[in-house]
Amino acid sequence: VIALCAREGLAVVPQGGNTGLVGGSVPTGARREIVLALGRMNRIRSLDLLNDTATVEAGCVLAAVQAAATDAGRLFPLSLAAEGSCQIGGNLSTNAGGVNVRYGTAREQVLGMEVVLPDGRVWNGLRGLRKDNTGYDLKQLFLGAEGTLGVITAAVLRLYPKPTASATAWIALASPAQAVELLATLRSRVGDRISAFELVSRTCLEAVLAHLPDARDPLGAPHPWTVLAEFGDCGTAEDLHGRIAEALDGHEAVLAQSGEQARSLWRLRESIPEAQFSNVKHDISVPVSKIAEFIDLTDRALKCAFTSTQIFCFGHVGDGNLHYNIGPAALVAQRDAVNRVVYDAVERLGGSISAEHGLGQLKREAIRNQKSPLELELMRVLKTALDPKGLMNPGKVL
Ligand SMILES: Cc1cc2nc3c(=O)[nH]c(=O)nc-3n(C[C@H](O)[C@H](O)[C@H](O)COP(=O)(O)OP(=O)(O)OC[C@H]3O[C@@H](n4cnc5c(N)ncnc54)[C@H](O)[C@@H]3O)c2cc1C
Repeated sequence: VIALCAREGLAVVPQGGNTGLVGGSVPTGARREIVLALGRMNRIRSLDLLNDTATVEAGCVLAAVQAAATDAGRLFPLSLAAEGSCQIGGNLSTNAGGVNVRYGTAREQVLGMEVVLPDGRVWNGLRGLRKDNTGYDLKQLFLGAEGTLGVITAAVLRLYPKPTASATAWIALASPAQAVELLATLRSRVGDRISAFELVSRTCLEAVLAHLPDARDPLGAPHPWTVLAEFGDCGTAEDLHGRIAEALDGHEAVLAQSGEQARSLWRLRESIPEAQFSNVKHDISVPVSKIAEFIDLTDRALKCAFTSTQIFCFGHVGDGNLHYNIGPAALVAQRDAVNRVVYDAVERLGGSISAEHGLGQLKREAIRNQKSPLELELMRVLKTALDPKGLMNPGKVL
């Protein structure tokens, strides 16, 4: 298909699960282009359990890859609320993040890759190697490229030992600063057993409680902030629960007593995106040590700039990544002014305006003010070298 499009000068928009939040998988309408849907390339090609790898096609739904790993007694750790629809090709092309802080982003799960280049040639880089210093690491070019450099058709993914015990805690906090401190304390007490550490503001929880009639606040009394933390270990559940209860001593917290209770806590966190739809959304990152300062600085700047604001803040504390969404709905009409306040704070603290969702169409222009001219020039050099005719996903990223 790509060779045919190259011959005809037809642009191509690769599309996975179409769950991306920045318009990357949607045609701009500016020129003649086709949508290339990858959903039928959905085979798990092979599992190599002694190498702890799976070779999967780009159209595999993320949840299906997780399930295949589980069936083989392993863990594929990438996890996000859209996992029932998003596809591996989309995950790699956006370098998706998600909730599993311990294992890193999608980029860190990839050992090898197969890519169709914009002229239709196929690069087979499906190597399952953990060490390979033979020149430029070409797969990195396509990770996070949002379909602008080629079409990912398959990848070799890392698998991990499956934890035999897990614990899920919902923890009350007075401030984001306390959350950052608690993460540091927990790391020193339980090490890399922390697999997720998700900050949830009261506004987010209230939106979820209004959206899900059968849901309830796990702590009963309201708290300004909470954290949903998940822990995994290879020992017994009793040992893990004992350690976590000890580490959380002095904190008001609920430790899930069953898988069902753990799922109901996760449901609260995963329902946040759909519970607060009509507002100005941000996906920012700052160094973890600056999270509290970012929230404080930006909250105050927004309250000065606009007469009424409602801030829905949640995110992945271990990655310094916040979804910082601003209502009420009327502010959507002033999106550019709202963005300016948020992006100024991000820049002041050395952060990024797109931590995990990419640039797509939505942030293509905004990035000009964040990246240096040299960085933008290098990005254009790569784009021109690989896609001189500009056929791959035009109007996105650059
Ligand atoms: C409820 C909800 C929660 C979310 N939570 C998170 C989260 O926690 N973390 C996070 O990172 N994201 C999150 N997202 C965003 C989204 O799910 C991710 O960006 C995901 O990785 C996109 O995968 P997809 O298959 O849907 O890709 P699509 O939306 O189809 O495409 C995304 C981009 O990748 C390109 N692309 C797709 N497939 C290929 C391919 N095979 N080759 C080359 N380019 C390709 C597209 O052209 C587009 O630019 C969330 C979205 C929703 C709706």
